[in-house]
Amino acid sequence: MGQGRTNTPSLRERDARVIADIGRLRFNPLAVTGGHGCTLIEEGGREVLDLSGCAGSASLGYSHPAVVEAATRALRNMAGSSLLLHPNTPAVELAETLLEITPGQGERRVWFGHSGSDANDCAVRVARSATGRQRFISFIGSYHGNVSGSMAVSGHTAMTHTLPQAGLVLLPYPDPYRPRFSAEAVLDLLDYQFATTCPPEQVAAIFIEPLMSDGGLIVPPPGFLAALAERCQRHGILVVVDEVKVGLGRSGLLHCFQHEGFQPDMVVFGKGLGGGLPLSALIGPARLMDHAGAFALQTTAGNPVATAAGLAVVQTILDEKLDRHAARLGSAFMDGLRGLVARHDIIGDVRGRGLAIGVDLVSDRETRAPVAPSITAKVIYRAWELGVTFSYVGLSANVLEFTPPLILTDDQMRAGLSVIDQALGDVMDGKVSDAAVAPFMMW
Ligand SMILES: *Cc1c(COP(=O)(O)O)cnc(C)c1O
Repeated sequence: MGQGRTNTPSLRERDARVIADIGRLRFNPLAVTGGHGCTLIEEGGREVLDLSGCAGSASLGYSHPAVVEAATRALRNMAGSSLLLHPNTPAVELAETLLEITPGQGERRVWFGHSGSDANDCAVRVARSATGRQRFISFIGSYHGNVSGSMAVSGHTAMTHTLPQAGLVLLPYPDPYRPRFSAEAVLDLLDYQFATTCPPEQVAAIFIEPLMSDGGLIVPPPGFLAALAERCQRHGILVVVDEVKVGLGRSGLLHCFQHEGFQPDMVVFGKGLGGGLPLSALIGPARLMDHAGAFALQTTAGNPVATAAGLAVVQTILDEKLDRHAARLGSAFMDGLRGLVARHDIIGDVRGRGLAIGVDLVSDRETRAPVAPSITAKVIYRAWELGVTFSYVGLSANVLEFTPPLILTDDQMRAGLSVIDQALGDVMDGKVSDAAVAPFMMW
C-alpha cells in the first residue's frame, strides 16, 4: 500500500459485498460516482466516455439541463405519486405527446410503467385477456424483458434458465450477415406453423424488435417485417413493436419501425423514454387498452417526476431533431468503423441504424465464425482502460454494441473511434489477460 492510502474499501468492493449477482450485468470494472453529458465520472475522478448510454437509457446523456429542470420542478411540487389513483399533468401531457408523435389508427390509449420489462409484460396480458387468444409468436434472440410475462415471450439465450410460455412459437430472425434462414424461409416457416401446429386464430400477438439489439444488433432484411406484419394482421394477430432500445430517435427516425413500412397495433417504449429515470409506455387500441379496469396497476407508475422527465426527453428530441442528428452521426460513426476493417481482421461486419451500431467480431472473415466471447470481453475491457465504455450483445457474445446518448458530438465520436481502434489492436497483441475479463462475461 502506498503512503496516504486508507483502508476504505472501493465502491466496487462495497458493491460486491451487498449487491446481488442476479441483478448484475457488468461488462467492465467501471464504478460510477457522477456524470454529465456523454461522460461518466469513475470513482477516483477519471472521465469515461459512455458509448453505451447505459444500454441506451441515457438518451440525452447524464444531467441534461432539460431533464434536471423538469424533474426538479415536478419534485418541488409533487402532484401525488400515483397515476392510477389520480391524474397528474406531466403524465397526461406525455401521453398526449406520445399519441401525437406515434403513427396509428383509431382511438388509442397509453399505459405507463417503470421499465421495458413491465410494458412488454402488460402487452402480453392485455393481448391475451382482450382477445381471448392464448398463444404468442416472437423471435429466437429477442429480448423483451426480465419479468415473468415478458421473459416468457423472449428468445434470448440469457432466458434459458426460465421456460418460455406454453404455446410460444419462436421464429429465427433473418440475419443478412449470417443468412442461415432467409426472410423467405422464415415467412414460409410461419405459414407452415399456421397451417399445422399453430392455427393463427389461437395467436394473440407477435412481438417484434424492429432491429434486434440484444440478439446481435441485427438489421432485418428489407421488406421482411412488413411482410410478416401483413401475414399476422390478416389473421387478426396483434403486431406489437418493441421500440424499447432503438425507438425515439435512436435509429435515425423517430420510430425504428418507420424504416420498415408497416403499422404496428401496439408500440412499447422504455429505456431512453425516461432519459435515465424509470419510465416505460405501451400504446395500443382503446378497445384493448380499455377492455377492463384495474387490470395493470403499479402504484408509482406514471408518477409526475418520471413523466415530467420523459416529457422533457421527448420534447428535446423533437426540438433538437435528435433523430436526424442520430442518422447523420451514426452514419459517420459506421463509416469510421468500416475504416478500421483494413487494419483489424477480426471485424467481420459493421451494421446498424443511426446510433444503434454493432461491430460483429469474427475469427475468420471467410466463414464468419464468431470470435470467442473472451475476445469481445477483452476489447471492452481494454477500451475501458483507455477511457471508453460500451458492451456486447449477440447469442455468441461477439458483437460490440454502441448505443450512445443521442447528444454525442462529432469530436466524441472520433475520440471513441480511436480508442476502439487501439483496443482492437491491443487485444490482438495480447495486452489483456483472460483473468482480467473472467468476471465480465456474464451473458
Ligand atoms: C432492455 C430491453 C427491454 C427491457 O427493458 P428494461 O427497462 O430493462 O426492463 C425490453 N425490450 C428491449 C428490446 C430491450 O432492449
